[in-house]
Amino acid sequence: MDDPRRVTPRTDVVLADPDVQAAVARLGKRIVKQAVDDVLDRCRRGEVDPSHVAAAVVAALPARATSLRAVLNATGVVVHTNLGRAPLSAAAVDALQVAAGATDVELDLVSGRRGRRGRATLAALQAAVPDAGGVHVVNNGAAALALVTCVLASGKNVVIARGELVEIGDGFRIPELLESVGATLREVGTTNRVKLSDYAGAIDAETAFVLKVHPSNFRVEGFTAAVPVRELSGLSVPVVVDIGSGLLAAHPRLPDEPSAGAVLRAGARLVTASGDKLLGGPQCGLLLGERELVERLRTHPFARALRVDKLALAALEATLSGPPTPVAVALASRPEELRRRAERIASELAAYGAVAVESTAAVGGGGAPGVELESAAVSLPAELNDRLRTGTPAVVGYLHGGRLLLDLIALPAIHDPHLVDAVHKAEKGEG
Ligand SMILES: *Cc1c(COP(=O)(O)O)cnc(C)c1O
Repeated sequence: MDDPRRVTPRTDVVLADPDVQAAVARLGKRIVKQAVDDVLDRCRRGEVDPSHVAAAVVAALPARATSLRAVLNATGVVVHTNLGRAPLSAAAVDALQVAAGATDVELDLVSGRRGRRGRATLAALQAAVPDAGGVHVVNNGAAALALVTCVLASGKNVVIARGELVEIGDGFRIPELLESVGATLREVGTTNRVKLSDYAGAIDAETAFVLKVHPSNFRVEGFTAAVPVRELSGLSVPVVVDIGSGLLAAHPRLPDEPSAGAVLRAGARLVTASGDKLLGGPQCGLLLGERELVERLRTHPFARALRVDKLALAALEATLSGPPTPVAVALASRPEELRRRAERIASELAAYGAVAVESTAAVGGGGAPGVELESAAVSLPAELNDRLRTGTPAVVGYLHGGRLLLDLIALPAIHDPHLVDAVHKAEKGEG
């Protein structure tokens, strides 16, 4: 037999293959060259037939130029931080397509003059929260809070309850953010209790505002006391409320989540929130409140550093004015319907020991830490977990009682067939 090193084709010959050229046009040279190098190494080791190198390269290539993988969210966590928070609606994905090219984000096509950036998105937000006199959108929730603090409280102090000195996750602590833009924190009350008189006693001539932060990822239970926004709004300085979750109006299943509308009606002068939690939109930060205050924030030099991109503006508009988001659909799902889906899927996978079971789901990083959502799951042998998680599409469930549970609440029903296919593939050891 020939020495495989001598019959291994040269790199430039493989790259000239029409199928490989087509892949270069689609994915770029770097990705394809890497695949060519890998396949040629295997060819030299005798693992790939020299006449099949081009075909092996094409087979080894990723489907697209992003290494991000699609995941079927079977975790039972509706807004999953590690899975990119809220999945976008089809309407928002469609909007992204348009915004990705040249688009009139800052041009008024009727007059031919420069237009206000994202005006339609801001109008949709304004319409969704009629209690807000002004609205502005920035890069994320933290940016919204940073802008408010930088503009209103740099060199001044912010009064905040000790129980609201919150860490959101991944080491992001709200008090450190406020200090990083030049505010001094004046902490009042204790971890579990704070009174109106605590706030009133802490306010002085250097106080910019009182900040109320919604504890969106934990709950303090028992001997607790907090001061409602309505009472705080009677104090001598503005009240700013970070509601976190981005709920614009009250949700019946989430009675403890504050909504932007309710907080503004209670007297908050400004509200900040995230776009990619319960609102179900792209990553962005919402600023809502008194018109003059919002205008001051919008026109401040620092605002430019926090500017939201055109993709997020397009997706946010579609989120606000389009059909219900996947998050909204998940929160509205009925346990009987989830149960029926689980039974249908389990019957198709009965050969692998699948059964439909009840499951308890959660809202997740988006908020409502105390809320348990009644749900249903497909229970499978735990051995499938690793293969499903590394398959295509990846399926992420959770282990419970020695079984792998695939919860359906956060999985749009249109993906049920994909879940079934993924389990078949995992069982066969394909991926
Ligand atoms: C999530 C959250 C933030 C941070 O928002 P990002 O969009 O992640 O920057 C700030 N405050 C609260 C209360 C939150 O829940």
